[in-house]
Formats: sequence, C-alpha cells, structure tokens
Amino acid sequence: MVALECSPVRPAIMTIGQVKIDRLITGGCSCEAVSYSLVGPLNDARSCHCSMCRRIFAAQASVCAEVDAEKFSWVKGEDQLTSHVGEQDYGVQFCRHCGSTLCIIYKGAIHSLTLGCVDGDPEMAIARHIFVGSKASWEVMPEAVTQFDEYPE
Ligand SMILES: [Zn+2]
Ligand SMILES: [Zn+2]
Repeated sequence: MVALECSPVRPAIMTIGQVKIDRLITGGCSCEAVSYSLVGPLNDARSCHCSMCRRIFAAQASVCAEVDAEKFSWVKGEDQLTSHVGEQDYGVQFCRHCGSTLCIIYKGAIHSLTLGCVDGDPEMAIARHIFVGSKASWEVMPEAVTQFDEYPE
C-alpha cells in the first residue's frame, strides 16, 4: 500500500509516466521579414549532397529536418515568401527580399525546415549525409559521418 499524504513541498513540475513537453522552436530569414515557430521536435536531420540541392541551396549541400505540418506556423511574413516547385511536387520557399531558403514544401505543405534558419541550437546533429556519391569535387567530407552514395534504403 502507498500512503497518500499531503506533502508540504510540492515539486514544481510533475511528470506522470513519460509525458514529454514539446519545446518551442523558432526561426526566420536573414532580413527578419519572415519568421516561424514550431511546437515539437525536428526529425531526421539530413544533409543532401546532390547536384540539385547544390544549386537550390547555393552551397555544398542542403541541411534540412522534417517537421509535423500541424505543429508549424508562420509568425510573420508568409506573404513575403516565394515558392519554387520542382520535380515530384517538392519545392522550396524563400524570402523574396533576402533570399534565405526557409523550408522544403511537398504538395504545398511544409515538409522540412532548413537548419541554417533555425534560431539558436536546434539540439540535434545531422544524422546522415545522402547522395554523397554526387557531391561536388571541391567538397571535402568530414571523417566519421554517416554517409550514403544515394538515398538509403
Ligand atoms: Zn528575408
Ligand atoms: Zn538533394
């Protein structure tokens, strides 16, 4: 039997079982015209080294993490976004003023956020590098990262 007592010192936060409180993640573009918030985790951070990402993100690779669309919202500047939709209904959205690429969309809905536009520490690291088989000749991959020549099974 467990005795039920009123404790004079109650804990500030009570957790029952494994209830996990989702944290708030915010981000935005470099000119601050556009910002967003997300309640909940970012998932499956990946860096893609394919030739398309190289051009779209104007860098050696893209770095994105998936989000739950229902937990994502634009705080300001959604009407300042320009969309470019490419193959298979995937596209990107970027600030029309400064050009920061904020997210990947799929069939018009938010799919992933670019980690470079997340405020502060997203508390995650890139889990895998994909399409490393088609990386730029000038890119030197760091050692000891999880990498795949194409898309992993
Ligand atoms: Zn901007
Ligand atoms: Zn890619």
